[in-house]
Amino acid sequence: MVRGMYRSRSLKRKYTRVPGGESVLHYKRKKTAHHKCAECGSLLNGVPRGNPHEISKFAKSEKTVSRPYGGYLCHSCLKRLMLTKARAEMDKQ
Ligand SMILES: [Zn+2]
Repeated sequence: MVRGMYRSRSLKRKYTRVPGGESVLHYKRKKTAHHKCAECGSLLNGVPRGNPHEISKFAKSEKTVSRPYGGYLCHSCLKRLMLTKARAEMDKQ
């Protein structure tokens, strides 16, 4: 019987052929969920997913999108937000 932590389904399982010829189960942590737009919920591009420890080694430019609200809003929601802000600004004058 394997250790208790390996009996749970929170780890991903993969059968691997070892040099001895037998196939053994290897356990791996699951990838984190995709990052989604805060407004419409669509998947964000340019934001990596995976082991947080591995991602923390990336440069900042590899972890986010370099524009206002990058990595938080998708491009179409940002465009809509900026237009509404600009139009509200115009109405004030
Ligand atoms: Zn969106």
